[in-house]
Amino acid sequence: MLMRHGKFYLVFDIGGTSIRTGLYNEEHRRLERFRKTCTPNFLSQETASADAIVEHMLEVLKEEADALCGECQLAGVCAALPSPMAPDGTLWRMPTVLGPRDKGGFRLQDKLQALWPEVPVAMLNDVSAAGYYRVAQGGRDFAIVTIGSGIGLKVFLDGKPRTGPNGRGGEIGHFSIEEPIAGDLACDCGGSLHLGAVASGRGTLRVARQMAAADPAAYGNSLAARLARDTCGCLSNDVLVAAFRDNDPWARQVMTVSASHLARALAFLHLSLGLEEIVLVGGFAGACGEQYRELIANLAGRYAWDTGQDWNAIIRIESQPDTVALEGAGHFMATRPVQRRREVQHA
Ligand SMILES: [Zn+2]
Repeated sequence: MLMRHGKFYLVFDIGGTSIRTGLYNEEHRRLERFRKTCTPNFLSQETASADAIVEHMLEVLKEEADALCGECQLAGVCAALPSPMAPDGTLWRMPTVLGPRDKGGFRLQDKLQALWPEVPVAMLNDVSAAGYYRVAQGGRDFAIVTIGSGIGLKVFLDGKPRTGPNGRGGEIGHFSIEEPIAGDLACDCGGSLHLGAVASGRGTLRVARQMAAADPAAYGNSLAARLARDTCGCLSNDVLVAAFRDNDPWARQVMTVSASHLARALAFLHLSLGLEEIVLVGGFAGACGEQYRELIANLAGRYAWDTGQDWNAIIRIESQPDTVALEGAGHFMATRPVQRRREVQHA
C-alpha cells in the first residue's frame, strides 16, 4: 500500500469550529489526504470546564489521527493551534475554543508528546501555519489574515512569522474597535467590541442579527430573509454568505459594516509596515469569495493614504481554506532543521 512507504508528517489545524487532520508527504512536499471534524468548544460543551474541553480536544486529535494514518510511518507531528504562543510553547489564550472560560497559560507540549512518544512533536500558531503555505510558494514579506471563527494575523518578514519576544504578536482580532454598534457584541475572549467580535464569521453573524432586529422591515424584504425562511428558519452564516454572494443589498450592507472594521486595521498595517501583500484565508473569507476580497480592498483604500498603491493587487484571497494551514504545517516540518526526538520547536 502506497501510504506505508515514504516519510509522512501528521499535521493538525485546530480551529474554533473545525479540526482538520492531514498527512503530509515529505518527499513529494504535498498533503496526501485530510479529514475534518468538529472542534469540541465552549459553544458545543456548555457546562464543561476549559480543562475538560482541552482533554476532549486531545482525544479527538488521537481518534482523527488513528482514522487517517493507518499503518503509515510517521516522521513527526505538528499541531497548529488557535492561540498566541510563547517561545517555550505556553499557549497564552484560546478564546475561539474555550470562550470566556479560558484562563490562559495552557501547556500542551507534553500532552501531545505523550500521544506520539516515538516522534518529534512541534506546535505552531494556526495563522503562522497558514503563512508557511505562502512561504512554500515563494512568499517572503507579507501578512496573512484568517477570517473564520475569529480573526487572526501574522506578519511574515523574510519568510518568518514575527510575533515579538513573547509570541504575543498578530492578535488584531482582539483589538478594540471603540465604535458604538448597538447591542451586545461580546468577543469570545470576554472583551467587548473587539475586531473579532464584529468582523469574524461569528462576529459578522452577530452584526447581521443586530441589524435584522434593528430594522425588521428592511431585513424582511431581503434575499437573506427569504433564504432563511426556506432553510433553517433562522439567519445563519450559510444564509448570510449565500445572500451576499447573490448581491443581496441587505447582506452587502451587513458585510460592509463588519468588513470596514477589518479593512481599517489592514490599512493601518499597510501604512505601518509597507507590506504589499495581504492574504486573506479562513473558512468565512473562503466562503464569501472574490466579492469579499473586492469589498475589503475597496474599503482599505478608503482608510489609507493614497501613495499610488494598488489595493486590488495587495489584498489576495486563498481559495482553499480547508488545507492551507495543513500544507503550511507540513512545509514547516519538512524544511526545519533536523530535530531529535523530544527536541521542541515552536513558532
Ligand atoms: Zn477578544
